[in-house]
Order: sequence, then structure tokens, then C-alpha cells
Amino acid sequence: MTEQDLQPVTGKPFFLDSIKGMTFFDPHVHMTSRTTDDYQAMADAGVVAIIEPAFWLGQPRTGVASFRDYYSSLIGWERFRASQFGIKHYCTIGLNSREANNGALAEQVMELLPHFIYKEGVVGIGEIGFDDQTPAEEKYYRLQLELAREAALPVQIHTPHRDKKQGTTRSMDITIEHGLDPFTVIVDHNNEETVKEVLDRGFWAAFTIYPFTKMGNERMVQIVKQYGTERIMINSAADWGISDPLAVPKTAALMKEHGISDEDIRMVTYQNAITAFGQSGQIDVTDFAGVKDIDQSQRFKGNTVLRGGQQPRIDKTSLIIR
Ligand SMILES: [Zn+2]
Repeated sequence: MTEQDLQPVTGKPFFLDSIKGMTFFDPHVHMTSRTTDDYQAMADAGVVAIIEPAFWLGQPRTGVASFRDYYSSLIGWERFRASQFGIKHYCTIGLNSREANNGALAEQVMELLPHFIYKEGVVGIGEIGFDDQTPAEEKYYRLQLELAREAALPVQIHTPHRDKKQGTTRSMDITIEHGLDPFTVIVDHNNEETVKEVLDRGFWAAFTIYPFTKMGNERMVQIVKQYGTERIMINSAADWGISDPLAVPKTAALMKEHGISDEDIRMVTYQNAITAFGQSGQIDVTDFAGVKDIDQSQRFKGNTVLRGGQQPRIDKTSLIIR
């Protein structure tokens, strides 16, 4: 039995002490799939603001009304739910690559998007891009890049898990073909193979710290040591799968342990995301403090986050993510 096994499973995670007073911005997290415990733990760890990209739900939607309700929840109920834990919630809106392969539905979703992308708190078009790199995915990716250009909104690109290097290059090439400035494009889910080209070409390089797949946070520390902090940002991409909504603060703690300066940590876990997505004109950092006045008895269309006064539990005690 290790010392960690003997720690109580509830209470304050030990890594919080080393990052006390630091604030974090997680620019990619699917809170719709997460619990109030997660919100509480994120707030306790210093997460003050997040971006929730529109994504697929783990199974395909069968009608456009499901998309409408989902987008509505991202700018409505989910934003309210975050506010109840003192976290400022933004979102990006788009048709994800997987569901772009349902052509009939994709056409209807494209008609829906302009009704949502201009709403308050929408900081970009996302997450869009390639999954299997099919012609249908390319078609709707291009159409949404046009939408981003017209709306002058940043783009949040989901890069494919298979053929990642080639898929990432192609994703960037296509944004250039559509006349987008790389400084308005956030290329997500980078790894050691993709980061150099993304940075060299002037794009933002986002890294997802995700257990078992994508990047572990020990590897992330090495990337920051090698490439510095310019145009690099870290996110959790926590969703309905095995993932960690505390990935950003945990990685900050690990960076600190490895001697990376507080200012460098601040750039990759807070400031760079604000600079990139702030080009939407939708992010005002003074709003982060505004949601701190938490009154959990507040209602959103008659509903609250309270259920019989249960106390949120926190049992996220491990610092290292592999
Ligand atoms: Zn995602």
C-alpha cells in the first residue's frame, strides 16, 4: 500500500497548495457531460473560466432539433450551472466532424448555426475539422471556415486521432485556402509530432491533457521546456469518457514542481487562451470576478442546481496524469 492509498478520498487535493492563488482558464471542456462535483473541484483548484466546444454526444443525433437544444443548453443552462460555482462559461459553436458525415442532417445544422454563433459568450466556431478525413467532413469544415471568416470569429480545430500529422497539416492548409489568419485559428489536440509545424506556421497550438491517450502532463512539461510558451495553451477536453476536469491546474502544479516559472505557467494555463479566443470580442476578464458572487438558490427558467442540499464531494487526489 502506498502513502497515497492511505490518504482520505475526500478533502482538499494535496497539489492545490503549490498553485494556491493561481487562476486558470480551461479553453476546452465538455461540462454538459460532467457533474457538479467537477465544477466544485475546478473552482477550488482555481479554474475561473472555461470554454465548452460544441461536440458530439458519444452517439449520433438523429434530428436537427437535438442540435438546436444542445446549442441552446451551451449558451443557457450550462452557462448558468457554471456560474453557480463561480466559473465563467463560454462556448464555441459548430458541427463536429463525425456528424458532418450525415449529409442530410449536416445541411440542416448549417442553416441553424447562424442563429447561434452571434450570441453572447460564443467565442468561436468549434470544434470543427477532421475525424476520418472524409469528403463530407472536408465539405462542412470548409463551409464553417467561411462562416468563421464572415463572422470574424476564431476557429477551434479538432485534429484527427488517426493520421494525426497529415490531418493536422491538411487542416491548417485548408484554413489558409479560405483566407483565415493563423493567429485566429486554435489547432487542438497537438502532440510532439505536430507542435513544431503548428507553431512555425503561426497558429495557436492547444494540448489536451487526457489520461491514457493524447498527452500526459509529464510530456506536456517537456513540451513547454522545449518550445516555450508563445501561442501554446493547455486544456482538459474532459467529456463523457475517462478524462480529468482538473487537468489544467494539475499540469500547472507539475510544471511548478519542474521549475517552470509562474509567469510561463500563467501563459499556457490562462493568458494565451484569453488572447486567442478574446479575438471574438466576447471575453472580458473582469467578468470572471462577476460570477464569484455565488448564490446557489438562483434559478434558471425555474430550475436550480440544488438537489436536497447535498454537499459536493472532491476525491481527485492524484497529481500525475498518464
Ligand atoms: Zn472536445
